[in-house]
Amino acid sequence: MGQPPLQQPPLELPTDELATLAARVTDEALRHLRRLESAPIRPATTGPQSLELFEEPAPEAGMGAAALDILRDVSEHSRAGTGRFFGYVMGSGEPVAALGDFFASVVNQNATAWRSGPATTIIERTVVSWLAQALGCVGFSGTITSGGSLANLMGLAMAREAKAPANEHGAPAGVVYASSEVHMSIGKAVALLGLGRDNLRLIPADADLRLDPAALRDAVVADRAAGRTPLAVVASAGTIVTGSIDPIAQIVEVAREHDLWVHVDGAYGVPAALVEPELFRGLHRVDSLTLDAHKWLYQPLDCSVLLFRDPAAARRAFSLTDDYAASLSSDPIEGQVFFEETLELSRRVRALKLWLSLRYHGFAAYRESIAGNLRQARRLAELVDAEPSLERLAEVPLSAVCFRWTGGDPDSLDAANAAILDRVNRRGRVYLSNATVGGKFALRACITNHRTTDSDVEAVVEEVLAATAG
Ligand SMILES: *Cc1c(COP(=O)(O)O)cnc(C)c1O
Repeated sequence: MGQPPLQQPPLELPTDELATLAARVTDEALRHLRRLESAPIRPATTGPQSLELFEEPAPEAGMGAAALDILRDVSEHSRAGTGRFFGYVMGSGEPVAALGDFFASVVNQNATAWRSGPATTIIERTVVSWLAQALGCVGFSGTITSGGSLANLMGLAMAREAKAPANEHGAPAGVVYASSEVHMSIGKAVALLGLGRDNLRLIPADADLRLDPAALRDAVVADRAAGRTPLAVVASAGTIVTGSIDPIAQIVEVAREHDLWVHVDGAYGVPAALVEPELFRGLHRVDSLTLDAHKWLYQPLDCSVLLFRDPAAARRAFSLTDDYAASLSSDPIEGQVFFEETLELSRRVRALKLWLSLRYHGFAAYRESIAGNLRQARRLAELVDAEPSLERLAEVPLSAVCFRWTGGDPDSLDAANAAILDRVNRRGRVYLSNATVGGKFALRACITNHRTTDSDVEAVVEEVLAATAG
């Protein structure tokens, strides 16, 4: 007959060719990991050099396996996630989890509902409930999101729909409370929800940089008296700059008196509840909470967890199902749909890496690693305190240490410390970031890395003192 012969589809690879490619990618990945310790933390790459290497015309014809040659440059012109990277709140890309990401992409399930991925739906439910239980939030459910910013937005969307519904008729006014130390993602969420940032009541943090429950109560009472509608309070656990933890149990008390939703922004700090639950008393009584697994659970980006007490509240906020997508099953397992409880529809299976890594290492190893980071931060605080030319600028309840050098002209310490930061990072042995604490320019080291050793932490003070010499 006149049928043309079946051709190989243009993008399809024979699996043995794929095996060769996979072996090469594995080699490059291992090379990256093996050189981490000796690599400069901050690559010496300049802007023009990065353009020269990676900006190229779109390839009309494929280059085949040669396309992979550039992976080595990608590694060498990337920031090295060694145990001495202390900037921001950066996780460390646990490699078993990275393998999980690879496998998740190959299996390529859409994490919308059970019917689109029976295995991965149960895996996501399972890993979420493991975390909820480990945090003492028994019975909470939730979903995995791209990051803390989205999880915080979703938490506040649930709060708004619970306390001042807007989904049908638009947003009535309402007030959200937080301390002045709250993360910028909360301000963004309040803006996106149409509440207006004027209605984010930032209550000046107390001397320990925590939200003062009495000041919260006063602000809520004043807003009610003025005819406004208090909606929600965001408790930070811990704050992005110093890791201070708002008094969650007392905040919950105020919230219960005044019918507020309690959302905990624990994007950075809540993993510490796996080892020091007493710091987070009241966590099991909140309405929703955010935990970034790509920070202090060491996962490769991206992986954040939103937990909530009442799945009906999530459905009130996020369910709007077309016939086209409606689940036709009333079975409690086979009828599960994530998109009724999250903003996202198509989602990659972020749960698989976390699940695989937790199964491989076990919660005990995770606890040990987090406890180690906490101990290392306290050690760094002691080293700073023991050095006469250094001044610690905040308590260290978690793993962020803020300090500065005070050996120079008292009138220009901010500029001197900014220059020290630049020199420290250029020296390339440790990487610090900066923050403002009590109006002062602070050097900031945050330890959320499974690779960090005690001697890595000692290097912080050594490098800062070396950098003061110019
Ligand atoms: C990192 C962080 C966020 C934002 O999370 P992303 O995953 O970066 O979107 C929010 N709050 C706190 C306290 C954080 O540390």
